[in-house]
Amino acid sequence: MLEDYKRDILCCTRCGFCKVISTQKQRSWKYNRACPIHKRFGFDAYSAQGMLYIANALLEGKLSYTEKLKEIIYSCTICGYCDYACKWVHANAEVLDIILELRAKLVEDGVAPLPQHKIIAENVTRHHNIYGKPHEKRFNWMPEACGPAEKAEIVYFVGCTTAYLKPRIAQATVKILKTAGLDFTTLGGEEYCCGAVLWRTGQRNVAKNLIEHNINSIRRTGARTLLVSCAHCYGTFKREYPKVIREMNFEVMHVSELVKKLLDEGRLKLTRRVDLRATYHDPCLLGRLGETYVPWQGEIKALGVREPPKVWLFGSKGVYDAPRKVLRAIPGLELVEMERIREYAWCCGAGGGVLEANPSFALWTAKERIKEARDAAAEAIVSCCPRCALNFERAIADAGERMAYYDLIELVAMALE
Ligand code: SF4
Ligand code: SF4
Repeated sequence: MLEDYKRDILCCTRCGFCKVISTQKQRSWKYNRACPIHKRFGFDAYSAQGMLYIANALLEGKLSYTEKLKEIIYSCTICGYCDYACKWVHANAEVLDIILELRAKLVEDGVAPLPQHKIIAENVTRHHNIYGKPHEKRFNWMPEACGPAEKAEIVYFVGCTTAYLKPRIAQATVKILKTAGLDFTTLGGEEYCCGAVLWRTGQRNVAKNLIEHNINSIRRTGARTLLVSCAHCYGTFKREYPKVIREMNFEVMHVSELVKKLLDEGRLKLTRRVDLRATYHDPCLLGRLGETYVPWQGEIKALGVREPPKVWLFGSKGVYDAPRKVLRAIPGLELVEMERIREYAWCCGAGGGVLEANPSFALWTAKERIKEARDAAAEAIVSCCPRCALNFERAIADAGERMAYYDLIELVAMALE
């Protein structure tokens, strides 16, 4: 509950590092900003700092709900840069959790979510996916010859966006599994939406139902590894599921981590040339938000000391290296880096329900990243998330850029014999 974060809220010193990259980490004036809402809308209310003050004012009854307030709170893409920066600079405060609790409070108080987010909840309740597509078509992309095993060590969780809108990512993932000779299974009709957008828009009850359903279905397979090809699924399983289900009994693995492991062990060989100068975009939910949440309950003592000690998620132990190592292993591919990478990556703009509720801001955010990719002299931008794909592809088209978009796994599949 938001009340539980009162101390964290009061820790804010208004230093502003949740908005601007700290000077020693900046590489240019042009790309020295990291919070998309603050860069786009300018006012401090549109930042983590602002939202912490909004949260405090709401808790103290000094602010009432207005449409503007709702718009501010739901403009955030939940990219997590503020959380990384705030903890890194000085304050061990759960900035991102406060924004998420703020949204959950608005929903609980009956003033949120936004209409587009309500539609997502309705879609999920009726069809188990956020797009309202027929549930029975979720696995239509699966090539018949590649049918999964009934039981296996690996269960591949496809996710709504990949299954319905970016099936080529799922097909490439299956091709890699088959080439490496790995048995895998899927949840079939028991795979429901992972709950990413619902949790991040504060719709906790619907999200909890999905989390419980998916966990039970995964447990029934007996699989030890949950494989995902979507960063949204990955960050949700790692960071949000443990808030609902403490013991998951399986490892969550992104396909980029699996490919890196297979390459290291010599079980997969990339031999075909893919002549491309590409840059890699770190998806927020694979990088900064790709750490495993460890539930904590205890006492906060003087100077903020937690008793028992708390495991903090600082954002530096997400999946940053595996995708880069995989890209470097593709013959002919040259990896060029943008200025803001890893913990400092600029968000694609599609997260936190923003793609649905504020598509023009999502588009602006993606275009900012495309410009950065162009400045890095890249011919293609590569990511590991189908939601990034949706937003980058429309930004490239809208801007009329000569830039290609690839999912990392598509490039890997292209490099296989
Ligand atoms: S970085 Fe943290 S302490 Fe500094 S202004 Fe932002 S929220 Fe406040
Ligand atoms: S999560 Fe991202 S968009 Fe939201 S306030 Fe933090 S840095 Fe800004």
